Amino acid sequence: MSDSRIYLDNNATTAVAPECVEAMTLCLREHYGNPSSKHAIGEAAKTRTLAARAQVAALLGASPAEIVFTSGGTEAIHQAIWGSLACGKKRIVTSRVEHPATLMLLEHLQTTQGVEVVELGVDGQGRLDLAELEEAMTEETALLSLMWANNETGVLFPIEEAAALAAAKGVSFHCDAVQAVGKIPIDLKQVPLDFLSLSGHKLHAPKGVGALFVRKGRKLPPLLFGHQERGRRGSTENVPGIAALGVAAELAAAELASCPSRLTSLRDHLERSLLAALPGARVNGGEAGRIGGTSSLTLAGIEAEFVLDKLDRAGICASAGAACSAAGTEPSHVLLAMGLSPQAALSTIRFSLGRYNTEAEIEQVASLLPKIVSGLRAEAA
Ligand code: PLP
Repeated sequence: MSDSRIYLDNNATTAVAPECVEAMTLCLREHYGNPSSKHAIGEAAKTRTLAARAQVAALLGASPAEIVFTSGGTEAIHQAIWGSLACGKKRIVTSRVEHPATLMLLEHLQTTQGVEVVELGVDGQGRLDLAELEEAMTEETALLSLMWANNETGVLFPIEEAAALAAAKGVSFHCDAVQAVGKIPIDLKQVPLDFLSLSGHKLHAPKGVGALFVRKGRKLPPLLFGHQERGRRGSTENVPGIAALGVAAELAAAELASCPSRLTSLRDHLERSLLAALPGARVNGGEAGRIGGTSSLTLAGIEAEFVLDKLDRAGICASAGAACSAAGTEPSHVLLAMGLSPQAALSTIRFSLGRYNTEAEIEQVASLLPKIVSGLRAEAA
């Protein structure tokens, strides 16, 4: 793939940071031992996982013992949700705009285990109503599960407030922070949530590694049984992936002071230019608090699929709604929940910016997209 491509699909996945590649290579070449082995090569691998655990914990304001390494965000989410049912209660409160990793599992639990799933709606800007949330959490509720930042729109949920409400009601709280970790400061000493999921490949580590934060004292059965991760997640550790996740967490922590505002200003620049050049275009969630780099743009009367194809041919990678549903032409459940018509949802493009994007790239996209749209309109006329 040519280096000249402009990659604006960072919410789907990110480029692996060179520092992470280096950490992985060292594990593959030299620290290839099994962390459970007692010899020197096993000890070297164990040292890598211990370092990574401390690095991930530091990014979250957690303690290393509260971090369980998983195969990614989906597994972490599954462990938190499935495990929460061990308390015997069968009611889970969530939102209508969660990632399929949450919603598809909940649908399965509803049909196969009779779990009552309460899905809270959002307003036209993708915001949650805290009064509605408070009311939904009853004594019978096993878990509240909410995402921190939406993968399609970037809209942030009020997780601090939700955590306080859940704690006051005695309801366990899991947060899918896959799109928030490394993008906003998170200090779990200040936010009383119980479980939090994150994924390596959204923060410049590779795919296939993630972590679940389990607050000290909270009981959560494993999905995979075995002695690793202190019995909380069996299977021999993915040491190269874990080492890379640790390095990615350290890089993200160092960058948190400057990167979010840099990404916000790049995104604002893109949105200002496109809204001025494309009559009828609108930003979804534009009035809500959002993470810096995400822009969900609905183009009036033009299918996203055609625009994305032209962008791709011009060397620009973006997506329509969530990447996971890119194979289908179903309108995004997130945009429908925000009140968009199916047609408007299918006319929506997501640009998601990341560490390696530059002002010059944004200018190129801002000048090219209006030309693509008017070309397509002329073809259709
Ligand atoms: N949650 C959110 C908000 C996501 O954006 C994603 C990935 O797109 C996931 C969960 C799943 O993470 P993973 O791909 O690591 O399983």
